[in-house]
Amino acid sequence: TEAHIASVEAADALNAYIAKTPELALEQADKADAKIGAGEQKGMTGIPVGIKDLFATKGVHTQACSHILDGFKPEYESTVTQNLWDDGAVMLGKLNMDEFAMGSSNETSFYGPVKNPWRRGDTDTVPGGSSGGSVASVAGFAAMGATASDTGGSIRQPASFTGTFGFKPTYGRCSRYGMVAFASSLDQAGTITRTVRDGAIMMESISGFDTKDSTSVDIPVPNFEAALTGDIRGMKIGIPQEYHLAGMPGEIEALWHQGIEWMKAAGAEIVDINLPHTKYALPTYYIVAPAEASSNLARYDGVRYGLRETVEGGGLVDMYEATRAAGFGDEVKRRIMIGTYVLSAGYYDAYYLKAQKVRQLIANDFKMAFEKVDAILTPTAPSAAFAPGEKSDDPIAMYLNDVFTVPASLAGLPGSSVPVGLDANGLPLGLQILGKPWDEETVFKVSGVME
Ligand code: GLN
Repeated sequence: TEAHIASVEAADALNAYIAKTPELALEQADKADAKIGAGEQKGMTGIPVGIKDLFATKGVHTQACSHILDGFKPEYESTVTQNLWDDGAVMLGKLNMDEFAMGSSNETSFYGPVKNPWRRGDTDTVPGGSSGGSVASVAGFAAMGATASDTGGSIRQPASFTGTFGFKPTYGRCSRYGMVAFASSLDQAGTITRTVRDGAIMMESISGFDTKDSTSVDIPVPNFEAALTGDIRGMKIGIPQEYHLAGMPGEIEALWHQGIEWMKAAGAEIVDINLPHTKYALPTYYIVAPAEASSNLARYDGVRYGLRETVEGGGLVDMYEATRAAGFGDEVKRRIMIGTYVLSAGYYDAYYLKAQKVRQLIANDFKMAFEKVDAILTPTAPSAAFAPGEKSDDPIAMYLNDVFTVPASLAGLPGSSVPVGLDANGLPLGLQILGKPWDEETVFKVSGVME
């Protein structure tokens, strides 16, 4: 823990940590020592981790990197982090992220952008988003693991950009209690680690049914680490033909092909599959997610939490308006406007309801594919890490980076991003493994073979 506290300081230039908790870490480390002494050691006992700023941590900075939550220190602990502390893990601090987890480059944080420890020659690159602080801290050796959240790819895409292992479980596997809500029907907690085995150990710790979240599901949590047998002989791996995007860098296609060869060499059978509604996934996600976000973010009114901006001589509505105008960043405002528009009378049927129906079609595509295969292999993202500012003025270009991650989010499936190679500039690239609902074990098993 002491070594990690020093590493956190040494990694300051990454801007990964927005709050550090060294005293708390040392206290928790003492408790971990006691647990080990008493023979109560678990996989996470004494392991120093970073926590994404959207998990409520009692008495500690929790703002989802938004100005509107200024000064907010919750009175309660999220279930995911509580599970870690119960197992003896140690918190190094809170990690930077895109504001309210909206973004794919960690450039929308109120606390400024995060730097990717991987650079393109002399040029900085973004760490991906929204879990930019989580991946930068782990890739930069300033945490052994980090919590993260994935609504449309925020674990998998940044993992791909930083050469880390990202894991998003089935929707309902982890409790959302104490996670700052973005789009409640999509949000899932997960992990960033340097290896697949670390991911299995940390995921097992944070998973499990919780009566405090009505969408968490009462299914026993398997021993994920035990799934890492390396044996995928006879397993069927699906390759979705719709993911061969026109214009995708040749290196990513080549890496995907390499992944296919690794699967074959390990004795798996490759099966071409079709996910015909893939092309509708991005537009569907960018209707459903903002719609839910606009509703979830209505609670930030200047009364209940954080920031309050009053207007001289003004009333309550003026206070609401001034607070929300000052407290939310541009991307968050864009989502709120899109969300309220697609939910408004007259447009609801054309946009929101239509998107819900297409979401079901996308889920059905996966359901049919999984009648034929055990797991699906795709690239994680259509590009390697890009330069800061490269896409931040063009929301559509930014949204396009989520093309391979959002379909599984809409279907609630478990998925990973495994670091498997480098591009010509020496930047990491990941491949994505998707599994059947509640079959995280297969995702881990196949990930372990590719690592
Ligand atoms: N990049 C996507 C978005 O901006 C996904 C974010 C996430 O998974 N939290 O909505």
